[in-house]
Amino acid sequence: MRIDIITVLPELIKSPLEHSIIKRAKEKGLVEIVIHNLRDYASDKYKTVDDYAFGGEAGMVMKIEPIVKVIEFLSSQRDYDEIIYTSPDGKPFSQSTANSLSLLKNIIILCGHYKGIDQRIRENIISMEISIGDYVLSGGELAAAVISDAIVRLIPGVISDETSALSDSFQDGLLAPPVYTRPAEFRNWKVPDVLLSGNAAEIDKWRMEQSLERTRKLRPGLIDDDN
Ligand code: SAH
Repeated sequence: MRIDIITVLPELIKSPLEHSIIKRAKEKGLVEIVIHNLRDYASDKYKTVDDYAFGGEAGMVMKIEPIVKVIEFLSSQRDYDEIIYTSPDGKPFSQSTANSLSLLKNIIILCGHYKGIDQRIRENIISMEISIGDYVLSGGELAAAVISDAIVRLIPGVISDETSALSDSFQDGLLAPPVYTRPAEFRNWKVPDVLLSGNAAEIDKWRMEQSLERTRKLRPGLIDDDN
């Protein structure tokens, strides 16, 4: 899979995509992430990518031309399955969206800044708009990092023991059960006996019960939504 990220602040997005699971996925050749500086596509000598808003609203708006230029350039190189814009009014990001995106070949993520991008880009070029939550960030870079991280760990082969991604929260519509490691006892805080029993069937049953109990208590909507 290839992810192209378009930003005015390449430095802001580089580091989160250079460690841990994403780093290994890149090394294994399972994902290529290419960051593009939008200013490289500005046509004037000041590398202008924003301008005043029509109608007198306060704040700057990202201009059409540099964005069209970079996206048209990328689209001339390969076909893109989705051209995503990160936006607080986009579709709330979820594990199921991450799952579908992880199956695609090429995607673009456009990071907004200032007051956002000219509406005409959203109407004519963007195929999908994603919000990472009901709050406003200064720019789309952290959102792009969140989206890329959630997608990359789901690409088949990225996490060596694939079942470990499959047993994460939301993957089956439930929250994950609690996890424990050694020591089995610390200051009289004990690991549940069943986990030490060696009885795989009992352990699976306990995990499922814990998942259901946690989901009912912490996120009942996840269960109700299915009905
Ligand atoms: N004026 C806009 C907010 C602009 S914030 C509004 O009120 O909707 C600047 C940029 O940060 C946005 O263009 C978007 O790319 C990014 N951004 C901010 N909050 C976000 C969120 N919750 N999810 C995804 N992207 C977000």
